[in-house]
Amino acid sequence: MKQIAIYGKGGIGKSTVSANISFQLSSEGFKVAQIGCDPKHDSTRLLLGGKTQTTVLDHINSDSKDIGDTVSVGKNGILCIETGGPEPGVGCAGRGILTAFNFMENNSVVAKDTDIMLYDVLGDVVCGGFAVPLRRKYANAVFIVTSGEFMSLYAANNVLKGIRNFDIDKCRVAGLILNMRGNEGEYEYVKNFADAVGLPIVTKIPRSSKFAEAESEGVTVSEKFPDSEEYKAIHDIVEIIKNLNGAGGKLYPACPLNDDELDLIAKGKPVNKDEKSTYSSRILAVDERNVLRGCGSHAACLCCLGIKDADVIVHGPKSCHFFFSVGLDGEIVYENKAKALRSASERMFSTDLTDYSSIFGGIKELGEIIESRIAAGTRTIFVVSTCVPGIIGDDVEGVCERMHEKHPDVDVVPVDVDGILNGGGFQAREMALRRMCSIADKDLEPDNDAVNMIGYYDEIDKVLARGDDMRRLIEGLGLRINSCFLNDTTAEEFKRVRKGRVNLMYSYSVINRNICRVLESEMGIPWFNGYMPIGLGQTVSWIREFGRYMGVSDDVCERLIGSVNNDYDGFKAQYGGRLEGKKAVIYCPTATDIDWVLEMGDILGFTITDIYCPTNSKWINADEVHFADRGIRMEFDVNYDTLCERLDEVRPDMVIGVDQMLSRLTIPHYNFRRPRAGVRGAIECGKRIIRMMEVSMI
Ligand code: SF4
Repeated sequence: MKQIAIYGKGGIGKSTVSANISFQLSSEGFKVAQIGCDPKHDSTRLLLGGKTQTTVLDHINSDSKDIGDTVSVGKNGILCIETGGPEPGVGCAGRGILTAFNFMENNSVVAKDTDIMLYDVLGDVVCGGFAVPLRRKYANAVFIVTSGEFMSLYAANNVLKGIRNFDIDKCRVAGLILNMRGNEGEYEYVKNFADAVGLPIVTKIPRSSKFAEAESEGVTVSEKFPDSEEYKAIHDIVEIIKNLNGAGGKLYPACPLNDDELDLIAKGKPVNKDEKSTYSSRILAVDERNVLRGCGSHAACLCCLGIKDADVIVHGPKSCHFFFSVGLDGEIVYENKAKALRSASERMFSTDLTDYSSIFGGIKELGEIIESRIAAGTRTIFVVSTCVPGIIGDDVEGVCERMHEKHPDVDVVPVDVDGILNGGGFQAREMALRRMCSIADKDLEPDNDAVNMIGYYDEIDKVLARGDDMRRLIEGLGLRINSCFLNDTTAEEFKRVRKGRVNLMYSYSVINRNICRVLESEMGIPWFNGYMPIGLGQTVSWIREFGRYMGVSDDVCERLIGSVNNDYDGFKAQYGGRLEGKKAVIYCPTATDIDWVLEMGDILGFTITDIYCPTNSKWINADEVHFADRGIRMEFDVNYDTLCERLDEVRPDMVIGVDQMLSRLTIPHYNFRRPRAGVRGAIECGKRIIRMMEVSMI
């Protein structure tokens, strides 16, 4: 089967030319199929006597199972198919072409005994979708219809670029079809372009009213004026098609012009053919792409779910939603955040965009799901967009605005991160946070004693939660917590975030620092460059530093220090020396806080002989000298296998650290992740170490 693509600027006469070619070919006995690839779906109307037909995309969106809906039989038995497409300004027509071609291929829509398939394709913008007919498995030869107007030559050049991006140096262009407008010097103008791109003008269709006359009677010019010059012009093309052999025949490579060369064409000046065109096709190699880490929408959802009474609507396909739910639920279990976050699937909803909505837009689905969540009683809704609406250009912001206007008591916040288009997870989380700030009251005056806690996770582990000193330390300084942000905050609490005089990180992380920065720039809340301490030494230093920062008197600070000292003294009195003579090694990444483990070793009497790190970077909270002074050996870049070898050599009684692989060890091991803030968290962990060792000794 020969497959021919006819490209050209919209309105240039492609459909008329295509219909006439199809008619003449079919009159000579060829079995012809014509496929219109234009959302206007009027390519085959002339062949069907003015009748419009069900487009492939209409069929896909209907309940009909009859594939025959998509094919009509026109004059001379020509099979007529229209891909269809969205309304102007909505969705993605290119995506529509892609879907329609997949459908036609998978369902063998075109009869196998067809001799010639003609694709009539809109060529103004050759995006990936409109370039589908250019794929090698489709078009063997490409004709480009043009007139002597610069914009149609510009479109022709774009088509050449599209072809070149598929196959450099391959010959697939049959030539230019000049559909005359009747401008003075038109032929010479187009010939100048044709010479510059190295293509022949295969035929010249004179400007005439014959096409219009024939069309007004619902027939082709070939039927109405079989002896006309117009008929002969079409016949020239038909002869070329007939003589194309499978190997390509008289075909030419696509050699598009660069912008400067096009400018010469526009001015009617010749392009120097001796100089090689500097137009370079842009075929992305994998290593040229900017690889982004993580899915932005996923990160944005996690951020928005931090407002515990808000709903999150994922505007995208089911697969994105599934991936987010499974990922976030897994994270919630793994990070022990379940109490605060609840299941992601409980509060996260999806517009479940289908292939069809990715073509025609998913605004309707989005409006419906927002309405349904409002009806269910939700008063804060975040709409997180994914790649698909990002590509097709759904106006998510507009929908959210309209919904808020309709329901003024509901905050409908667009988080248009568009999957990865605006960056990776880190940027998306920041964007989500900035959008969240749009619901907060920026005019509130901060309370002198109010502190916002950033990155506080309300752990499900009740034993550890009991050991959380956060409130005790803040309140011990005569301060109070205004908001625990994120993950233990209601929308109403978040709206009052500006009441906080300062932001304080619960734990150190790049994300928490970024949250502080965003809240500083969006809400004007300064942040304390420190985080909640773990263990006695850190807690004492923190009380003094943070107390000073907040203007708390020394007396108050020292009283609090006395209180935390008492806790350690009490623990020491009860458990001191309980693990005397035991040897421990630590295995954890270098960013881990381990000062408290050293303190526990001192109190309980066990000796830390070695610290192994799976990575190689400096410690954040303590340096190597600090450990060397205590006679502790350090080794970096130790993977699990090497750790096992070291354990065979060192033969410790236990391993304390942070790594899931520790669960595979056969000697006692304690994987502590991060103890709760203050001294009580460290003491709780100390008791766990004792229990672990005592059980193992039974
Ligand atoms: S398609 Fe885009 S939004 Fe969906 S999961 Fe992949 S990267 Fe994320």
